[in-house]
Amino acid sequence: MSFASSEETLDLFQKYVIPNYNRYPVALTHGEGSYVWDAEGNRYLDLFNGWGCNLLGHCPPALVEAVRDQLGKLIHVPNTWHTELQGRWAEALSKRSFGGQAFFCNSGTEANEAAIKLARLHTPKQRYKIITFEGGFHGRTFGSTSATAQPKYHEGLGPLMAGFVYAPFGDLDAVSRLIDDETAAIMIEPIQGEGGVRVPPEGFLAGLRQLADQHELLLIFDEVQAGCGRTGHWFAYQGFGVTPDVMTLSKAICGGLAGGAMLTTADIAKSLRPGMHACTFGGNPIAARAGLAFIESVERDGLLENAQRVGEVFRRRLEQLRQQCGVIRDVRVRGMMIGLELSIEGAPTVKTCLERRLLINCTHSTVIRLLPALNLTEQQASEGCDILADVLMKQAGNHVRE
Ligand SMILES: *Cc1c(COP(=O)(O)O)cnc(C)c1O
Repeated sequence: MSFASSEETLDLFQKYVIPNYNRYPVALTHGEGSYVWDAEGNRYLDLFNGWGCNLLGHCPPALVEAVRDQLGKLIHVPNTWHTELQGRWAEALSKRSFGGQAFFCNSGTEANEAAIKLARLHTPKQRYKIITFEGGFHGRTFGSTSATAQPKYHEGLGPLMAGFVYAPFGDLDAVSRLIDDETAAIMIEPIQGEGGVRVPPEGFLAGLRQLADQHELLLIFDEVQAGCGRTGHWFAYQGFGVTPDVMTLSKAICGGLAGGAMLTTADIAKSLRPGMHACTFGGNPIAARAGLAFIESVERDGLLENAQRVGEVFRRRLEQLRQQCGVIRDVRVRGMMIGLELSIEGAPTVKTCLERRLLINCTHSTVIRLLPALNLTEQQASEGCDILADVLMKQAGNHVRE
């Protein structure tokens, strides 16, 4: 198969694609594991694999094979029918989490919309408020955008959906003060992703659990980014020992295909009565088959353990770099969720790494974020760290001279 050049593809975008994204001026054509190629045949090491969605790397063979097989059997049936696949997928997620039931959808924002509706439906009528956190990110539909306590995502969009109350991340007293008779839920990412791979202070999530129990609120964890094995636990909450009432998942849930889910206990799930919520493609046979193949692959290949092990390689290397390089403020590593907080803007680092054929990301202006595949090897981690170290050392040097 021959490909158009990157330039030709950029032309098509210029003419026909709405320019609502900042895109790199490169067209990608194919990928394998943690490597991806552009139209000119350049190979990149991908440490931000599919924005975190390709948790098994690009085109993992077992998943490709399962989906190919499924395409010839049943692609889509509406949720007016049962399929064994959707049932098995729900079972697999339930058994690895807190034993509840699943509602399926196609994206993170949809999973959160379901959680927002559920919070209002499950609690007494006068309760509608949901406490969310500064620096959080929950998606781009109106409910999730309103839940996202970052002004830059709200500009020009108002009025937003009513009922969200924002608290500083990590401030338990502030949360406590915000709770009143109209509060239905607390919704939080157990590790903030877009907010800069921010890990909550010790005891914070446990404190939220306590407040939720005390005031009969739902505790909702948005694990769209941190869940599905990313942190070296099936779900990030397991690493903190604090169990939510509701959990939302997407990004990696189908190993790179579109999928999403909201999980909750069977008791709370009763509040989402027939007719109250739906999603046409939610839990479709292709997504379910991919979701199951994803889980099987992670367990067959011991990838949760690998994420912990290779995460430690990153921690060692990046801590070392922090000692040598004046522009690194903090290193945060939870399995394969990695943040490097700089004292300078991160965009030039990302750009120079791209030129060096290393794909990384910058979020929150100054945080270099890596979301590598769970099956990244120690050698690939070293290869990436070598390039990143080289680029950052040079930038730190320039920074001193300025
Ligand atoms: C990416 C993300 C979302 C939104 O997911 P979409 O699939 O883009 O709708 C929601 N919450 C968190 C924590 C995310 O990282």
